[in-house]
Amino acid sequence: MIKLREAIKLKEDELKEIKKQIIQDVKKSQLNAYIIDENSLDENNQGIPILIKDNINVKGWEITCASNILKGYKSPYNASVIDKLKKYNLIPFGRSNMDEFAMGSTGESSIYGPTKNPIDHSRVPGGSSSGSAAAVAGNIAIAALGSDTGGSIRQPAGYCGCVGLKPTYGSVSRYGLIAYSSSLDQIGPITQDVRDCALLFDYIKGYDKMDSTSNINTPTNSTFENMNKDRKFTIGILKNAIKEADEEIAKSYSNLVDRLIKLGHTIKEIDLIDSNFQISSYYITSMAEASSNLARFDGVRYGNRASDAKNLKELYIKTRSNGFGNEVKRRILIGNFVLSSGYYDAYYLKAQKVRDYISFQYSEIFKSVDIILSPIAPNVAPKIGEQSNPLEMYLSDIYTIGVNLAGLCGICIPVDKNSENMPIGMQFIGNHFKEQDILDLALNVESSLKGE
Ligand code: GLN
Repeated sequence: MIKLREAIKLKEDELKEIKKQIIQDVKKSQLNAYIIDENSLDENNQGIPILIKDNINVKGWEITCASNILKGYKSPYNASVIDKLKKYNLIPFGRSNMDEFAMGSTGESSIYGPTKNPIDHSRVPGGSSSGSAAAVAGNIAIAALGSDTGGSIRQPAGYCGCVGLKPTYGSVSRYGLIAYSSSLDQIGPITQDVRDCALLFDYIKGYDKMDSTSNINTPTNSTFENMNKDRKFTIGILKNAIKEADEEIAKSYSNLVDRLIKLGHTIKEIDLIDSNFQISSYYITSMAEASSNLARFDGVRYGNRASDAKNLKELYIKTRSNGFGNEVKRRILIGNFVLSSGYYDAYYLKAQKVRDYISFQYSEIFKSVDIILSPIAPNVAPKIGEQSNPLEMYLSDIYTIGVNLAGLCGICIPVDKNSENMPIGMQFIGNHFKEQDILDLALNVESSLKGE
């Protein structure tokens, strides 16, 4: 597939041919990465095609978050990122499959059925931006947008073998992203390589007055133009990082450390808070916020409404019982529980204190290192249907959620394959607004792996 940085130089008739080809390939594809919808796949629409996760609003398109409750609902407006893309002649092209309301790590909890991993169709592509990553790695998209609340851009990129960036909280507008957990959600790019990732990030980043958490200090310079793979960094490695990871991931991690030393970087061992605290703090916070954010889907204003309700209460109950899938219901229930008056202090408030402490720990670490190296997941992509226990699924997010809790940036790049030829991704974590640093280091490693 043509790279984004090459596609931006093409003429409209050449772009039209690419869009035609993508439509053909998508129709033949077994991956189930796209939600097939003629309206969103129009070759006559001018511009460079970018695949959009089905939780980002594109005016006039259906948007469902892969949930029954929103089936048939049409976006009344564009998310700010869509307007930004359009300024550079990039257009939304295709809706990507995802875990329902972005809750999940495998891409299986979608009303459209699971997406498949392009490297091995019996495995999951990761989640929740399952379709975005599978399509880019599977050569049926030039580049895609995803959202990352606790790893949903980086982890599927890692499982599929492409590049995913979770930007600093506040650097990309969330206006028009259907909220899962507002204090953690970020939109970001999923691309074929690091340079394209920098380019797409540049197109979507920047302060936006429509998002009250958008950060006015977001750097405006171009990370793509300023890329420099020869910079040297002090990189923190986690002493206990690999204790949760399987053997092959642990081996890849230490091989990458050796490579970084050879490339002239300085390595420093660091300690992090017990990652189990990160899991608890993340899941309490995200479920609490989700229970509040999803309260608006009650059959009155959006999407599907139960037809046979006798009164208002029954309308709410029937609409929500029929509309939401099991994982979403579980999270709404737990979220309401941790916010309820008897348990608020014990769970929600405690989770916020732990979250503060985690942020503090990262800020201490970033006093002595520039970047942290971490695995992306404890394992390679599991088989479809293998990860059926929710708690096990939550625990597999151990390496990605700290970045969201502390509002940092992180990039996942493919660095290796395991014995079954499945991609292994690793993650570089940067301090707030240090996207240039992690992109430069990622490019350095990517080039060295390619022997450049
Ligand atoms: N797997 C995590 C969750 O289920 C992260 C999801 C995300 O980043 N949207 O919450």
